[in-house]
Amino acid sequence: MNRKILFSFRRSSLKTKWALTSAVVIFISFAIICSVLYWSMHTWLLSQEHQSVNRTMDDLQVFFESQGSGMTIDEIRSNRGLMNSIIDKNQTVRILNKDGIEILRINDTINQIPEIKKQVPSQGYIVEKEKLEGIDCFVATSKLQMSPFLGYIQLTHPLDSFHSLMNYLLMAMCILGLGALIISFYIGHFLANFLLRPLHELRLEMLNVAEEGFGTPILMEYSYEDEIGDLLQVYRKMMAELEQTFLLQQQFVQDASHELRTPIQVVEGHLSLIKRWGKDDPAILQESLETSLTEIKRMKDLVEEMLELARGEGVAQDSHCNVEETIREIVEEQLHLYPSVKIEIVKNHFTNVYAAISQRALGQIVRNLLQNAIRYSNQDDKIFVCLTIEGKNCKIEVEDHGIGIAESDLPYIFERFYRVDQARSREEGGTGLGLSIVHMLVNKYGGKIFVSSKLGEGTKFQITFPLENNQI
Ligand code: ADP
Repeated sequence: MNRKILFSFRRSSLKTKWALTSAVVIFISFAIICSVLYWSMHTWLLSQEHQSVNRTMDDLQVFFESQGSGMTIDEIRSNRGLMNSIIDKNQTVRILNKDGIEILRINDTINQIPEIKKQVPSQGYIVEKEKLEGIDCFVATSKLQMSPFLGYIQLTHPLDSFHSLMNYLLMAMCILGLGALIISFYIGHFLANFLLRPLHELRLEMLNVAEEGFGTPILMEYSYEDEIGDLLQVYRKMMAELEQTFLLQQQFVQDASHELRTPIQVVEGHLSLIKRWGKDDPAILQESLETSLTEIKRMKDLVEEMLELARGEGVAQDSHCNVEETIREIVEEQLHLYPSVKIEIVKNHFTNVYAAISQRALGQIVRNLLQNAIRYSNQDDKIFVCLTIEGKNCKIEVEDHGIGIAESDLPYIFERFYRVDQARSREEGGTGLGLSIVHMLVNKYGGKIFVSSKLGEGTKFQITFPLENNQI
């Protein structure tokens, strides 16, 4: 049963949970306060009733002591008026003989005569709680020396008004408790509705995005800087980033498939040519095979570069490398590939410099920049690689005196697949990904890249990297 309740509570909406929890909490607090109040009132009022009994008995004893011990029944009767003024309206006082037979009665609130207790003291009185005629009463008994016999004074104090007051109080508390339960449930419900409305709207917005996709209009307007406002901001930021990534990926897939389509078409064309004519014509066969091989190499380069970019999105490792050594290796590699090219390394107080970047990444950056410098300049134009220390950074510059880049193209050259001159880049074996890779690697290792270029005069790429910690 308990499990069932817990299960259905867990499955109910946040609003219901909130309303129920607040109702229960308020009700329990109310019930505790009421119980404490009820029991304090009960004790206090009962002690008041007890005190009233004590007061009357004390007054009666004083009265009888003042009359002397040999008082006769008639003398007592003649003092009835005085005794009446001592006794409260709801109390009954009886004078009994030693056998418990009533001799005199003042007031008549309870008819039943209580039994005389054996343990009545010779001095003072005893007070006990008894049920007479179905009513709880305090019964006080004391001994009374009269002439000519020993008797008893017996006071009966019914507690009916005390009980009806307590019952009334209990009833009022129960009604109030029930009212508090209902009111607190409604207040909880209202509060939950009011406070959870933004969450509900956020959910609707999320559902809308899930159904309609990115770019759906924003439905929710919430300008408070509370937790929900925070959540909304985080959600919108996350969605904007996701949308951006999604669009970039879409763009990348489109560009990549477009780039791959051209070499595939070329290879396909040449293979058909070989199939139709090439078998009998060695010249066509030779040319088609060479072109196909070139295109396949282009595809291979493209795929490798795309993989490099995809790999680059990973987390940077804590790495370092000797800058000069790495650059010399790459320069030699390029000179080996293009023997007619002239590359000069210029150093400004640059010995044994270590930068906080992996050797592979620095090699890739310099290789891409050098390949571009070679591609987009004449063979006679010298390419310079300058190495400088600048404060806590090392600066690497790759400068050529080739065709340069127009100012209007400069902001786009780091974008994937962007080429200023599509035909020339393709002809030179470019993929349009080289500078994107450079940009990604530089960012990954906390470096900076600048480019300055003038059409027809040449281009200079400047890269700065933080030096390795122990060199600073
Ligand atoms: P690509 O593979 O086409 O060279 P990159 O991303 O390396 O692709 O370069 C993007 C474009 O920037 C190139 O197509 C080229 O037009 C231009 N570019 C890059 N480097 C140079 C340079 N040193 N001189 C002139 N143009 C350059």
